[in-house]
Amino acid sequence: MKDTKGLPLSTGQPDTSDERKGLLWDEGDDDLSVQDEPLPSASSSRRRKCCSITLIALILSAIAVPSLYFGLRAPRPVADFNSQKLRSNGTHQFRKTSLIVSIDGLRADYLDRGLTPHLLAIAKKGLRAKSMRPVFPTLTFPNHWALMTGLYAESHGIVANNFWDPQSHSEFHYNRVESCWNSSWWFGEPMWETAENAGIVTANLMWPGPPVTRRGVEPTYFVPWKDHVPLKEKHDQIMEWIDLPLEKRPQLIMAYEPSLDQAGHLAGPKSDLVNRVLKQVDVFAKDIHDSLEARNLTDIIDVVFVSDHGMTDTSHPDFIYIDDILGDGFRELEHVDGWPAMGLRFSPKANTSYYLDVLTQAAVASSGKFDVFTHDTMPSRYHFSYNERIAPIYVVPRIGYVLTDRVTNDTGLNKGSHGYDNAEPSMHAMFVAHGPFSSVVKAIKQTDDSRFFKRRLLRPNLGWHSTANDTYVMDTFQNVEIYSLMVKLLGIEGRAAATNGTRGFWDKYF
Ligand SMILES: [Zn+2]
Repeated sequence: MKDTKGLPLSTGQPDTSDERKGLLWDEGDDDLSVQDEPLPSASSSRRRKCCSITLIALILSAIAVPSLYFGLRAPRPVADFNSQKLRSNGTHQFRKTSLIVSIDGLRADYLDRGLTPHLLAIAKKGLRAKSMRPVFPTLTFPNHWALMTGLYAESHGIVANNFWDPQSHSEFHYNRVESCWNSSWWFGEPMWETAENAGIVTANLMWPGPPVTRRGVEPTYFVPWKDHVPLKEKHDQIMEWIDLPLEKRPQLIMAYEPSLDQAGHLAGPKSDLVNRVLKQVDVFAKDIHDSLEARNLTDIIDVVFVSDHGMTDTSHPDFIYIDDILGDGFRELEHVDGWPAMGLRFSPKANTSYYLDVLTQAAVASSGKFDVFTHDTMPSRYHFSYNERIAPIYVVPRIGYVLTDRVTNDTGLNKGSHGYDNAEPSMHAMFVAHGPFSSVVKAIKQTDDSRFFKRRLLRPNLGWHSTANDTYVMDTFQNVEIYSLMVKLLGIEGRAAATNGTRGFWDKYF
């Protein structure tokens, strides 16, 4: 085990001393107004002047004193995420621990349905985000690997749930073990690799991804994917790990639950089935939280509940028939990647640029039903160009539309889908956190709010959607920021891999 304390600090490290100096500059300036000046004696005009100055000084000090009090006296809370320090829950020694739980397909606004009292209660004790923006394409495998690595799909290489790789001349398919367990597909460094390299014990409960990285690193504990595992079994596995003796206990636990996504595909996001499963995963979150509370661990373990993407209703979509558009060109397609978007690779003999023109003209004529992009015309916000695995032509339907062909027609079509534009609110994911991280973030926000000049002059709610009614809701942020959060919580950000996240993103929070 290596002590990370002595490592150089990256920008994410809370350098509170400098920040405090910055804050004190405002308040110190103000302080000048209360300094006494020696007044010459006698004349009444001078006395009047003296009275006015005293009055102004009194008024200014009324403003300055609270500001000085809160600015100088109340120390800005400092996060202590030293991963090696021993902490006690009253009966046992623990090291700082982080648990990330992904509830697949939990669309951000599902939390507004009045069906998730427990997740909302956890968010009220801790905090949540208005939503979390997934990477494009808004699919399970690209996003779970983005959450793990902090990378966009073009960087981490999992560019869809199924896709052709022209370099290896092979196809990745998410439900084939021979491809999805083959580490050569998976670029980037997942947080468990960073943690293991720092000597931290990690545990992976079915998180989508390979069991071992390209560099040969494995989580200490690994439970492979299995469908229909009861939520109680997953809860008990997490607690079994937490109850291990100190030296065997994982400090980073990642867990995955797919039932809500499955319900969304089967019955659509507005269905009774989704509402029923939503209540079940809400109780799952409560059970985890209650078990940590019962062990007196809520000040030691950070819990982060996330999802990978949202879900939109596709029970009565408008179909776009790709074979009608392409005509003979349809038979020239060698590979079709992804869904509901389609990455198209024509045979080398086909006149690809002709078919690109055909598709582009059809997109224009459709008046906004779908778009056609190449690597050069892909919207830059998708970060979905710089990888050979991304098919040269991508057809992306807008919400409400589904790509199909006359052969497939609507057979096997789901009533709910995702994979659309990551700017669409229905594609957005959720973020709820509780534990020492959220406590520090809220305490810092409260201290900052109590500082007169920070509150009035410096963009006071930077990074916050709202903090009313004691419920702290962060602005929407992109899920590639999660990697740096987790390594920060583990106190190993000095070892963090390069990501597509925003440098210093978490600095405005803690
Ligand atoms: Zn998913």
